[in-house]
Amino acid sequence: MKPELLKIAALAGDGIGPEVMREALKVLGAVEKKFHLHLSITAAPVGWAGIDAAGQALPDATLALCKLSDAILFGSVGLPDRDPTIPKEQRPERAALLRIRKEFGLFANLRPVQLPKALAHACPLRPERQGDGIDILVVRELTGGMYFGQPKKTEVIAVPDAQDGNLHPAMRAIDTMVYTTPEIERIAHVAFQAARLRRKKVTSIDKANVLENGVLWRDVVTRVAKAYPDVALEHMFVDNGAMQLVLRPTQFDVLLCENMFGDILSDEAAALAGSLGMLPSASLGATSGERTFGFFEPAGGTAPDIAGKDLANPIAQILSVALMFRYSFGRNDVALAIEAAVGKTIAAGLRTGDIFSAAETGARKVGTREMGDAITAAVAAG
Ligand code: NAD
Repeated sequence: MKPELLKIAALAGDGIGPEVMREALKVLGAVEKKFHLHLSITAAPVGWAGIDAAGQALPDATLALCKLSDAILFGSVGLPDRDPTIPKEQRPERAALLRIRKEFGLFANLRPVQLPKALAHACPLRPERQGDGIDILVVRELTGGMYFGQPKKTEVIAVPDAQDGNLHPAMRAIDTMVYTTPEIERIAHVAFQAARLRRKKVTSIDKANVLENGVLWRDVVTRVAKAYPDVALEHMFVDNGAMQLVLRPTQFDVLLCENMFGDILSDEAAALAGSLGMLPSASLGATSGERTFGFFEPAGGTAPDIAGKDLANPIAQILSVALMFRYSFGRNDVALAIEAAVGKTIAAGLRTGDIFSAAETGARKVGTREMGDAITAAVAAG
């Protein structure tokens, strides 16, 4: 029987996007052969590449392709020297990225942070804090909380002066943190399901000692946990979570966060991996049957400082492919094979500039292509 067709939209974007996407597509070719998959991969322009080709950061044809696909493999968009030349709402990050998020209802952001032992030197923490290597998955709610809650405004009000008691005009800014039970439930399910594919522990982050939202968050997560008796749940206040991430990061498996806490903690966790070039990310939407629509991209941007020089680390883009198989296509076996190939390549000493240290014995500096070729060969041989 012919395997099921998996349709992938490959949107490389700007800067280093096309270079790292090229390497990810090589790896996709190798897994297609090795696992006898049936893939349909279609490339389309986005970002400045979209503006140059069709006058829009997310051309209509690119969006139409995404709608016909099972998943989007994305590079990155935006060029700091060109972005200011057009109105904000037409700029790539807003017109392409935010639009895609909204269009596909991407509500869950997953950011794995893995620091292999061989890259201990790239981590800002002392080796004794790194244990046998850091391996954390931050699951962040993406569509609710303080970033989107209403009312959200800045207004002029009258406030009494501390000296004379007279009313004086002052500015007041209001943001509203709001979550509903279903919003918390659906992200909690994502975290518990992800934990089942890992070390089966969820640490739920909140501020239940101060915020009403924190109390609701904790209640709902505790209730959802009952459906996952094989997964351990602990609750942690966000301030303690921020501290524990640098004191003892190895205690964490899955870190479940609302939108703003997740924004902050996922960047803190990312710093532990030493380089943006190592960090993939997944944004997930609705699930139907075995498939979950997803958007997979490196955590970093277009890195214009190194674009076109064969210097970019393609690992974040390649690991994004692994996430696509794990979370969109339900193929953890393929994801593990790609991750093992990356691990093998790193263990063999290959390093792009961002993860290279002259002090490391046995390490060899390579370019984007050579790193991609080595990982592709490791997938094929694995
Ligand atoms: P950046 O992430 O592009 O670069 C920050 C630093 O990390 C740079 O020194 C860069 O060389 C390095 N870096 C990033 N990825 C790397 C890789 N794969 N290998 C080696 N080094 C890597 O952030 P920036 O410079 O602030 O932003 C550049 C542009 O990217 C901006 O236009 C920004 O708006 C855009 N951006 C896009 C996305 C996205 O598409 N999701 C995300 C972030 C930034």
